[in-house]
Amino acid sequence: MLYLDYAATTPPYPEVVEAVREVMVRFYGNPSSIHRIGMEAERLVIQSRETIAGILRVKPAELIFTSCGTESNNLAVKGAALAARNRGNHMITTPIEHASVSESVRQLESLGFRITVVPVDESGAVRLDKLEEALDAETVLVSVMHVNNEMGRIQPIADVARLLKAYPAALLHVDGVQSVGKLPFSPAELGIDLLSASAHKFRGPKGAGFLYCREGVRLEPLLAGGGQEGGSRSGTENVPLIVGMAKALRMATDRLDDAIERKRLFRAVLAEGIASIPELRLTGPTDGEGMAPHIVHLTFPGMKSEVVVHALERHGYFISTKSACSSGEEKPSGTLLAMGFDKPRAVSGLRISYPEDYTEDDARRFVTALRDVVAELRPMIRKSKQAGGSPR
Ligand code: PLP
Repeated sequence: MLYLDYAATTPPYPEVVEAVREVMVRFYGNPSSIHRIGMEAERLVIQSRETIAGILRVKPAELIFTSCGTESNNLAVKGAALAARNRGNHMITTPIEHASVSESVRQLESLGFRITVVPVDESGAVRLDKLEEALDAETVLVSVMHVNNEMGRIQPIADVARLLKAYPAALLHVDGVQSVGKLPFSPAELGIDLLSASAHKFRGPKGAGFLYCREGVRLEPLLAGGGQEGGSRSGTENVPLIVGMAKALRMATDRLDDAIERKRLFRAVLAEGIASIPELRLTGPTDGEGMAPHIVHLTFPGMKSEVVVHALERHGYFISTKSACSSGEEKPSGTLLAMGFDKPRAVSGLRISYPEDYTEDDARRFVTALRDVVAELRPMIRKSKQAGGSPR
C-alpha cells in the first residue's frame, strides 16, 4: 500500500511522536504558572518559538501559536480586517482559497466589508493585472494563498507584495499551509504581513499551527480570555504539540533541498506516466514549472473522481478527490472552474501528494496501477458519454 494523500495530512515523524509523548509526561505544567513546573513548560514554548522563528528568519515575538491552519486563517483574515476597520473596509481575495479563508471573507462581507475576488488565469495563478485594478485606498487586506491545496499551483507572492507597496494600508495575508516546510522562504523577505501554517501538513502533530504576524500589525483577537500569545490568542498553550510542531519543522527544513529534488523526480515520473494514458489530463505543465513539488493534479474527464479513488484504493493506493459529492450529485471543484475547466473536467479532479522518501520505482508502480484502473473503468466512460457527458 502507498499513501499518496500527504496534502490532506501526513504521518508525524516518529521523533515528533516521541517528543510529544515526553512533553506530555514530563512537562505537564501550565506555562503561566510561576513555579518551577510551570516555568519548565514555559521554557519549552519559548524554545519552540525561537526554533520556528529561526527557520522562517522572523522574530520570535512575531509568531502566534494556534490550534490549526483553519484557526490561523480565521485569526489573520478576521483579526486583521476588524482591527483595520477605521482605515478602510475593502478586502481582496481569490476564488481558489481554502474554505477557512473564503468563509472568513464571507463573514466579513456580512459585517459590511466590500470584497473583490480577483480571478486566476488558466494555470491557476492570480491575475496580477486584475489585482492591481482592484487595489484602492480603502483596501485593508489582501489574502492570497501560497500553494494551492488542490492543484498545487505556486502563487506569485513576491509580485503580489510588490503591488501592495503603493498601498501602505493594505496588509498581505498568505495561507502558507501547503508551503511552510515544503518550500524555502521567509515571510519577512517575501513581503508577507501575515502567514498561516499548520503542523500536520509537515509531519507534525494535528491540532497545532501558527500565524506569523509582522511586528506592528494589529489583530483583533477572536478568543477573549487570559491574554496568552501576546493577547492575540488566549488559551493555555498546547505545550506538547507546540514542541512537536517545532521539531517537525526543524526536521522538514533540515532536509529541504534534497526533499524538493526527490519530490521533483517523483513528480516527473508521475507526469510522464499520466501523459502517456490518453484518458487522463495532467493539470499544469509536464516539467512542473510553477507547481509545488509535492502535489500532482490530473483530471479524468467523463469519470467521477470518487470512482477512481475507490478503484485505486482496491489496488492499495490512497489518493484524493477534491470535488465534493452529495447525494450522488457531483459538485464541480470551484478551483478548477475558476481556472476555466469545463464541468466534465471540474468534477473529475484527482490529487496525488507524497513525501520525499518515496522512490521513482514507487511512482512507476503507481502509474502501472493507474493504467490498470483506467482500463478497468473504460466501459464506464463510454456509458457516461452515451448519457450525454462530453469527456473531452
Ligand atoms: N489552508 C490550506 C491551503 C489547506 O490545505 C488546509 C488543510 O487542508 C487548511 C488551510 C486548513 O488547515 P487545518 O487542517 O490545519 O485546519
